[in-house]
Amino acid sequence: MDRLHRVMGALVGSAVGDALGAPFEFGPPDAFCGRFPTSARGVATEMCGGGTLDWELGEFTDDTQMALLVGQSLVERDDLDEADVFDRFRRWAEADPPDIGIQTRAVLQSGLPWDTAAAEHVRAGNRAAGNGSLMRTTPAAIFFASAGREATMDAARRISALTHGDPAAGEGCALFHEVLRVLLDGGDADEAVAAALPLVAEPHRAKWAQVCAPEWRPEDAAEANGAVWPTLGSALWALRHSTTFEEALRLVVDLGGDTDTVACVTGALAGARAGITGIPIRWTSVVHGRIPGFGPEVWELRDLQLLAARLDGNRGVRLHEPPPTRGQKAVEVTPGVWAADLDGARRSDRDFAVVSLCRTGGRFGHDVQRFAYLTDDDSNPVLVTVLDDVLDDIAALRADGRRVLVHCHAGASRTGLVLRAWAMREEGLSPQEATQWVAAVWPHLSLWNDSFTTALDRWGPEGE
Ligand SMILES: [Mg+2]
Repeated sequence: MDRLHRVMGALVGSAVGDALGAPFEFGPPDAFCGRFPTSARGVATEMCGGGTLDWELGEFTDDTQMALLVGQSLVERDDLDEADVFDRFRRWAEADPPDIGIQTRAVLQSGLPWDTAAAEHVRAGNRAAGNGSLMRTTPAAIFFASAGREATMDAARRISALTHGDPAAGEGCALFHEVLRVLLDGGDADEAVAAALPLVAEPHRAKWAQVCAPEWRPEDAAEANGAVWPTLGSALWALRHSTTFEEALRLVVDLGGDTDTVACVTGALAGARAGITGIPIRWTSVVHGRIPGFGPEVWELRDLQLLAARLDGNRGVRLHEPPPTRGQKAVEVTPGVWAADLDGARRSDRDFAVVSLCRTGGRFGHDVQRFAYLTDDDSNPVLVTVLDDVLDDIAALRADGRRVLVHCHAGASRTGLVLRAWAMREEGLSPQEATQWVAAVWPHLSLWNDSFTTALDRWGPEGE
């Protein structure tokens, strides 16, 4: 898998976990699977909003707000500038964010400078081993991954120490940085922990070894999961007991308690493992939020993807504004499923549920718009996963009575792939029959991308 898929998976995955867990914060165990016993792919999904702080559907919380501040500072300074990160944190805290950790607030509002505020907080007898520095460190783990094990662990400790004076929190961040570094290289989390533990400072090593051990379970935790140890321990436990991003996130949100943060940390690791295409599009498409104190700008999926790429060293990348298209109007190609090109879809009736298969330059304004990560070349690492995710969502949206509009830039190759797969699934056609049938009803079909046709030959529709 391309490294960029994993990098974007880590940052988007952390924000998705944060938003998915937020409505369940401080709730009891098993609330998530109780409410969503199976995948919710129709108009209403597991991104349900609400909770004690009344989050918008898909809105991320302080975990991601602070993470984005760390990430922006690293990209703009091209290094770790602790005073700059601390200034951004303080400006954010002064803007009265809806959710802010107790330790974090006390330190940021103490009026003390960056290099003494957190230490003074501990010296005054306060606890400081919460998970509030771990939850925001994914951008730094991406940024410092290329510097190697010791450098990324050291950077983790320094950023943690800005608000969390207890070294136990810093050692947890250091372990997280190293695990993420290894996952971004396609490696194994447990092997990463084993290699990193000798670098964890005494006297914290034994306790970290305990919660990161393969046999540890969340019910073994000595503290509530607002503490740093069970947060990372639960994330690693969820990785071990799942194969997909969705399974890992279901496990941790169902733990209850500090669900947004545990899911945020888990989402980073599971997203790095699965890559961006392994995260369900019904979740990535709605994740969003603002950063209090930093203007009205709303961060969306494409902004998170862009920051992730920049953190990974692709400093020159810009937001892609796609060129205009012919404006091919929406046509119904099979009952309830329509096709168009980019500008045709952009101008389509607002009651369509839109499935976008290309970069769009932002949302169109439809209440349901899902964005699949699909490039029109042969570099899609898990095409069948993307197809299953897209087709299952189309089926669920149809079952909810919605007209579904599928489009890509020209409406030719990627749109054709999904229409052909849909015909195979709904009509039981072979790949050849499906291609002939789509060519007859959708004359814009293009078959130039051989990797798509090869994938269809291997792909067997699920969900029937
Ligand atoms: Mg939060």
